[in-house]
Amino acid sequence: MQILHPFAGSVQQYAEQLANPDCYRPGHCPQCHTKHPLTAHGFYTRTLIDTAYDGVIRVRRYLCQACQRTVSLLPEFVLPYLRSSLTVIALFLIARLFHEQPLQSAAASAPPSMPYQRGQFCIRRFRAQAEALCVALAALTQPAPAPDFLHRALAMLESTGWVAAHRFLFGGLRCHLLGWPCGLVPDGRRAAFSSAAAPA
Ligand SMILES: [Zn+2]
Repeated sequence: MQILHPFAGSVQQYAEQLANPDCYRPGHCPQCHTKHPLTAHGFYTRTLIDTAYDGVIRVRRYLCQACQRTVSLLPEFVLPYLRSSLTVIALFLIARLFHEQPLQSAAASAPPSMPYQRGQFCIRRFRAQAEALCVALAALTQPAPAPDFLHRALAMLESTGWVAAHRFLFGGLRCHLLGWPCGLVPDGRRAAFSSAAAPA
């Protein structure tokens, strides 16, 4: 299970503080809710494209000794399962949808440039998620007057701040800013089938 790493700073600062497992060690398990602090359990790596970074970052993992499940701490500048950072995605969506630049030039203006296919994929997912974002973000900011959900969601994200919105959506509601991939709906975890519910 992925949870949010409560760290705000640059990619470089994030990499530096990863050395200390006690820094952000969860004090309890978010899955079985046991009250024991979790055990450091190595890292996994993932790719990240940010405004000034294109490479691999490490994500720290912890193990719950009670339920034997792992928890990984995802830094808040990334969105689960997406290679582009939150900032890159925000700049791209604002350029493309708010200022209505053509896709080619919006993709080129989001630093670093976003490949055409990835840009289309982002827009499609954001469009599908816009109405749910408007509903969820109403807890943080006034719904903005706008012609449609898509523009209202963008305005609400701009007024809340994208990182603050992501922290609230993912950290608080287990809601993905661009919607969870199929199979991880509704809360970013694989559906668990109870043996009691399975046919005999
Ligand atoms: Zn546990």
